[in-house]
Amino acid sequence: MKSIEHLIEEMKQYNETFWVNPGKINSEKALKLLQKSHPGLPNLEAVMDADMRLRRFAPFFVSAFPESAEKSGIIESPLISIPEFQKSVIPFVGGRILGKWYLKADHLLPISGSIKARGGVYEIIKFAETLALSEGILNLEENYKCFAEEKFKSLFGKYTIVVGSTGNLGLSIGTIGSTLGFKVMVHMSHDAKAWKIELLRSKGVEVVLHDSDYSVAVAEGRKSALSDPYSYFVDDENSIELFVGYAVAALRLKQQMIDQKIDVNSEHPLFVYLPCGVGGAPGGIAYALKLVFGDDVFVFLAEPTHAPCMMLGMATGKYDRISVGDIDIDLKTDADGLAVGRASGFVGQVLSPLIDGIYTISDDKLYFMLFILHESESMNLEPSALAGLSGPIKMFYDSEGFSHLAENGLLEKMENSTHISWATGGNLVPDLMMKSYIKKGQGLSGTL
Ligand SMILES: *Cc1c(COP(=O)(O)O)cnc(C)c1O
Repeated sequence: MKSIEHLIEEMKQYNETFWVNPGKINSEKALKLLQKSHPGLPNLEAVMDADMRLRRFAPFFVSAFPESAEKSGIIESPLISIPEFQKSVIPFVGGRILGKWYLKADHLLPISGSIKARGGVYEIIKFAETLALSEGILNLEENYKCFAEEKFKSLFGKYTIVVGSTGNLGLSIGTIGSTLGFKVMVHMSHDAKAWKIELLRSKGVEVVLHDSDYSVAVAEGRKSALSDPYSYFVDDENSIELFVGYAVAALRLKQQMIDQKIDVNSEHPLFVYLPCGVGGAPGGIAYALKLVFGDDVFVFLAEPTHAPCMMLGMATGKYDRISVGDIDIDLKTDADGLAVGRASGFVGQVLSPLIDGIYTISDDKLYFMLFILHESESMNLEPSALAGLSGPIKMFYDSEGFSHLAENGLLEKMENSTHISWATGGNLVPDLMMKSYIKKGQGLSGTL
């Protein structure tokens, strides 16, 4: 294994690198220890509860977000096989990828076209339900279409939801929050995409831009919310509700795999690759994947070479007590959903006995894969969302990835394995911008 000095040197040079987590232990033991050390963490029952809450809101989603009607208001994305992409990468990597490769297509999620529709929507509906119950205007058996009624809107209109976001969390919370009648204030860093800011403002959301990076935007949001009892702060770094909302994805994924007759067991390992920013979304999903699939799932996170905050935090054991700026990394990446300098300490600690590792990927490769995926499968993702797609390539063609398979006795099982690359966003990207992304990818040199 690489020394920590070597790993940090690679990060500083902006080289792609792969960190294998030495702290991973047996999942049953890990989950027991975690639930003791972090009493707020959900068990399987609590994740199922969250799923039920989302289902209660389904009739409201159908009326408020027509695109969710197709799946009767269940906010879920398809699991899509990508054989053409799997073939297309062969000439660029020099060989095959063993196993079946799927995309978890969160770019198609209703409400915000990104993975943030999971956690963001969940946290706000939970807040709304709690308020409505305590005001006595709701009982749990009611049809939740009632959330569109005036008395709900006037109750929620007294409250301001505050959130710090690199873009997509703001879009998700701004959309669900303003639809329910809340005032919403989103703190963003200056490098947030202009179209995301405009879209939010068009929904009546107040956007506050900060000159500094994302962590500062979050801190500002936290400060402005704390002093006001009618303010509700969504804490991207520490929120258990966001985490639980993301966790629901694992239950849904398990059902989809059963429906598609995809086996997961000790002879049919499952590999999941999750793009990581501050850590909440991949963290909640990774944690719940372990609840659901135990030691049969192997989880890897993916970060841009210019924003490897979770790798730095976990590999040094300093978690949120170190930022990429401390090792002179500049955060200059087009993967805006992942452009975070300091990872969530809470999530890093939870993941430390659970995940297999983290790899980094350059922006050029994100764009090149964006182009290949567009050509081979006619799917369009935003740059951040491509990070998970290099996972299987790393496992077979990066020496650290390959050694990890060998050391865990996985090589002979790879023919029967399943790879899921989590495609975290893209559907709301304006057409012209998507065209320019594709063109940029096409112009790149073509290594993967
Ligand atoms: C937010 C986001 C992620 C990562 O989620 P975190 O909770 O920030 O780790 C990945 N991809 C996209 C497109 C995102 O918007």
